[in-house]
Amino acid sequence: CGIIGYLGNHEASPFLVEALKRLEYRGYDSAGIATVNNGKLDRRRAVGKLVNLSDVLVHTPLAGKSGIGHTRWATHGEPSELNAHPHRAGNVAVVHNGIIENFRALRRELAEKGDLPLTDTDTETVAMLTSRYMADGLTPVQAVQKTLGRLEGAFALLFLFEAEQDLMIAARKGSPLAIGHGDGENYVGSDALALAPLTDRITYLEEGDWAVVTRRDVTIYDASGTLANREMRRVSLDK
Ligand code: GLU
Repeated sequence: CGIIGYLGNHEASPFLVEALKRLEYRGYDSAGIATVNNGKLDRRRAVGKLVNLSDVLVHTPLAGKSGIGHTRWATHGEPSELNAHPHRAGNVAVVHNGIIENFRALRRELAEKGDLPLTDTDTETVAMLTSRYMADGLTPVQAVQKTLGRLEGAFALLFLFEAEQDLMIAARKGSPLAIGHGDGENYVGSDALALAPLTDRITYLEEGDWAVVTRRDVTIYDASGTLANREMRRVSLDK
């Protein structure tokens, strides 16, 4: 339901939780964040209000200067910690808004290779597919591009990778997603409000776009994989 990504020079988790609070108005049943720290991908999730996630983070903090976060409005799989985002498979974590219509067919395909789901969600299938492509030798960018070509439905997706301290990949098809530009930092959000405390320089992804984000660069491709030129805007929102 709500997506935030942070690739910066400060500890990510307070920024992620703060941004998720700004997305609370959309409604949600659970929340979670994942970070990469010293080559390790880790996550924390909690059912219910964001204060529950904050409590978890007080007891078991999550270090790292890159991270993704999500507030979930369940469509496939009951609201539970297991089904909360970020979902993880192998070296890949993903948060997702929307629905992957063909996830059952993709699951069957993955099961034939011995990759079995742990959750009831459509979202986990996305992480599993990307992880499978990476295990088969593709880079994260290649694996995500190939994954996107397989997905049917409406989605906004944001990927984070173990062993990649400086990479997030965002994709938009039928559900909005925006890139926020900082100074030596970059962000991703499902709406400008999530990004408002971080930056007022925003690029909206267009239908079918996907973006490779590092701290220094944002490279946007269209659905055909061609470099896309998207206008950066100044968006000022009152806090
Ligand atoms: N379909 C996904 C799920 O049920 C994402 C729901 C959302 O947009 O929050 O987990």
